[in-house]
Amino acid sequence: MSSMKHVVRPGSTIGMLGGGQLGRMFAIAARQCGFRVQIYGDPEESPAGQVSDRSWFSSFADQDALRQFAQHVDVVTYEQENIPVATVETLLQYVPVFPGPELLRASQHRLLEKTSLRRMGIPTADFLKITSESELRKGVLDFGGHAILKTVTLGYDGKGQTRVGSESDCGAIWQSLNVSEALLEKVVPFAHELSIVASRFADGTCSFFAPVMNHHENHILDVSISPSALISEHQTLEAQQIARTILEHFDVIGVMCVEFFATHDNELLVNEIAPRPHNSGHLTINACRSSQFEQQLRAVCGLGTGDVSLQTPAVMLNLLGDHLQHQSASAWQTVFAHPKIHVHMYGKSEIRPDRKMGHLTVIGQDVVAAERLGRQVRAGLMVPT
Ligand code: AMP
Repeated sequence: MSSMKHVVRPGSTIGMLGGGQLGRMFAIAARQCGFRVQIYGDPEESPAGQVSDRSWFSSFADQDALRQFAQHVDVVTYEQENIPVATVETLLQYVPVFPGPELLRASQHRLLEKTSLRRMGIPTADFLKITSESELRKGVLDFGGHAILKTVTLGYDGKGQTRVGSESDCGAIWQSLNVSEALLEKVVPFAHELSIVASRFADGTCSFFAPVMNHHENHILDVSISPSALISEHQTLEAQQIARTILEHFDVIGVMCVEFFATHDNELLVNEIAPRPHNSGHLTINACRSSQFEQQLRAVCGLGTGDVSLQTPAVMLNLLGDHLQHQSASAWQTVFAHPKIHVHMYGKSEIRPDRKMGHLTVIGQDVVAAERLGRQVRAGLMVPT
């Protein structure tokens, strides 16, 4: 169902598949505009459930529960790409779901994703489908001895990824992956990584946030900066054009993020697509009049775009479990005392080292100074008292 028959108005109820932080920030944006939100599929007290009207704890395969859920909501969207496509297809029998299943299907299968991008003429890192140890060994050689083996499904934040070199024990690596097919990618010696969050609306129009420059630590996003002096006007237009091509190809209504590698020759290669708002877009909450979550709301409700222009430079720093092991009241006082720092916490009670617990957004004309301040304040949270 790609065309919108009617506008979903404030007072209506939106169904959200998944209860993580992206669902939470969506629910906050939706409530601000007077919508109700029901969460499906995550356990009690989920980050999104805490700020929503109702949580459904049933599985994504429970046909009865899905039908009942659909009867309680006016439109459905999702906050993560591992929602089974069959779940969306079941819901579509009863209620509109945006974005539809096409982009979801591609974004949850790395091979399908990369093949679709290539078919659209969009550059990606060189890749090969691998189904055996000998293909792996040959592929690593073909890629000059520097490659990354990735699982085809359920990969995020660097999970399911292994670096493979010409010296590596391909037999052991292939066996430990324990899958029938995988993706081998050439290592891109990128200059930097950037992303763009884009939205498409029922009338086919698109909006684009300013591109964001991203730093990863251990394959997990660490810091996002916008605007960045390293991203040229030409690169911005190219990122927008690629995002538009993908949105139109999959007939998306909703929000999507495209992550890129920028090569030393200023070429953009798409690394990944997310069919939803993205961690690198969190700074839009404080730096734009309409955040990526409000854009998701507007798109799935058949409303037009908001103002997505950057009102102020901003730097976002993730708070992982590692950063919060020693958090003290006085460290938090310092964080909250700073007028340019916005604190976002996701309400997760269990702290695990790599778990995304929250983020800080630092606002300021000078992004270098803002990044320095953010890193300093974040380091302060880590000091044991
Ligand atoms: P992914 O889960 O595929 O988005 O990868 C997470 C991070 O790993 C990326 O943001 C990069 O920093 C790094 N990475 C993944 N694939 C490649 C590649 N082909 N070449 C270089 N770095 C990569």
